[in-house]
Amino acid sequence: MRISIKGGTEEQKLHAKQFCKFFAKKFFKDELSKLISVKIDHNPYNDNDLADCVWTDEETPPKKFHIQLFLPEEISLVNYLRTIAHEMVHIKQFAKGELRQLPSTNNEICKWHGARYEWEMHYWDRPWEIEAHGREKGLVIDYGKAHNMGTSLQSLF
Ligand SMILES: [Zn+2]
Repeated sequence: MRISIKGGTEEQKLHAKQFCKFFAKKFFKDELSKLISVKIDHNPYNDNDLADCVWTDEETPPKKFHIQLFLPEEISLVNYLRTIAHEMVHIKQFAKGELRQLPSTNNEICKWHGARYEWEMHYWDRPWEIEAHGREKGLVIDYGKAHNMGTSLQSLF
C-alpha cells in the first residue's frame, strides 16, 4: 500500500503510516495491497465533519483513496488513531467491493454485500458505519499491542 501524508505532527504521521501498514496486512492480500494508495490530509478543525474518505480513481472497485482529517490540534493519539481506523475500514469496504455505488440509480442506492441500501439512510443504521464504528476500538488496541504500546493505548479508552 502506498501512503502519503500531508500535515499533522511527526507523531501522527509516524503512527498513521504504521497503522495503515498494520491494517493492510490484516485485511488485504499482498496483490491487492500493492495496488492501493491512500493519501491523508490534515486540515484545520471542523466540528461538523471530523473526517471523510473518498476514492479518486475510476476503477471498480476503486484503488486510490483520499482521507481528509479535520481534527482538533489537541486530539489524543488514541482518538487520532481511532479516526484513521474508522476511515481505513471504509477503504476496505470500497476496495474489496463490499460497498459499491450504483451509478444507474443516480448514486442514490448502494450495494452492501449484495443488498441494496439508500446512501442517505439514517447514519447510525448504515451497516457500513456500524462496521466502521464497531471496529475502531479493537483495531487501535491490536495496533498498540503489535507495536508494544498495548497497555498504554488500551488504558486510554
Ligand atoms: Zn464512517
